[in-house]
Amino acid sequence: HADLALYQAKSTGRNNSRFFTPELALQLSERLDCENDLREALERGEFELFYQPQLFIESAALMGLEALLRWRHPCKGLVAPSVFIPILEECGLIEPVGEWVIRAACRQHRVWQVAGLRPPRVAVNISGRQFLRAGFAETVARILAEEGLAPAFLELEITETVLARETEQCIETLKSLKGLGLEIALDDFGTGYSSLNYLKRFPINTIKLDRSFVSECNTKSEDAAICAAIISLGRTLGLKTIAEGVEQAGQLDFLRNEGCLAYQGFLHSQPMSAPKIAELLRGRQPVAAVEECS
Ligand code: C2E
Ligand code: MG
Ligand code: MG
Ligand code: MG
Repeated sequence: HADLALYQAKSTGRNNSRFFTPELALQLSERLDCENDLREALERGEFELFYQPQLFIESAALMGLEALLRWRHPCKGLVAPSVFIPILEECGLIEPVGEWVIRAACRQHRVWQVAGLRPPRVAVNISGRQFLRAGFAETVARILAEEGLAPAFLELEITETVLARETEQCIETLKSLKGLGLEIALDDFGTGYSSLNYLKRFPINTIKLDRSFVSECNTKSEDAAICAAIISLGRTLGLKTIAEGVEQAGQLDFLRNEGCLAYQGFLHSQPMSAPKIAELLRGRQPVAAVEECS
């Protein structure tokens, strides 16, 4: 059949590109360079955390800060996590780097506290491999104790794809983590093999609406319907809902109307360095004091 022939021709065409071309050789060697650089990045202190504010929609008060990893490469400058996280995962470096991230976020929180600021909860992204590793909850407990941070100040973000694998082990790990007193958020909700069953079975606190739905929530009826359904479901189940990637006032209006609890996005701010966050927290102090008196 003509369709089939075309289909097969296309797939052979695609297969051809798998031959080891000079271009591929270059890609591979760049990749190996990158891997080697990443191995040394931790010791050289090239990793850094940025933080993006999360705000309550009703009051505009600060609800939390999401820690986002950056790599300050000596030549390439600031490298985004989408570039190097997959490499860290493949070459087995995600565990040490992931541990560094948790520790750095906890330590930074304490630094802000000691400076007299009152930082809200900090959210840390956890990769699937890191989460599924035996002893993960114990590692988190140890870091919290060593850094002297109250667990209530920490939130861990995991994705639904993690929950689809090794379900029993996941539930155990989540229970242990929640037993420590920290919170769990389901990141990028709706993009994976979402199963509404997860929301019932897994002890989580928050669902994060993925940016891919939020970005068109005020312009496309399908995305509006998906956002509205997720918010309503979250509310009904007693979960907090937070929208990510809010860039426009129109999107925020939509989310407010639907009863979404909180948001983060360029509309309020980009992820910022720790000193910038300190400025933000300092600016907020008088407001917090007034709230306390009333
Ligand atoms: P994520 O956890 O879903 O984080 C949200 C991403 O959206 C961040 O990208 C953030 O900078 C970006 N973002 C926030 N607001 C807006 C907006 O209004 N518009 C647009 N276009 N983008 C916005 P980033 O920092 O590049 O991180 C990308 C992903 O890398 C994260 O997605 C997360 O999955 C992963 N990641 C970041 N840090 C870590 C980490 O420490 N550990 C692990 N395992 N993964 C991390
Ligand atoms: Mg996240
Ligand atoms: Mg996300
Ligand atoms: Mg996302």
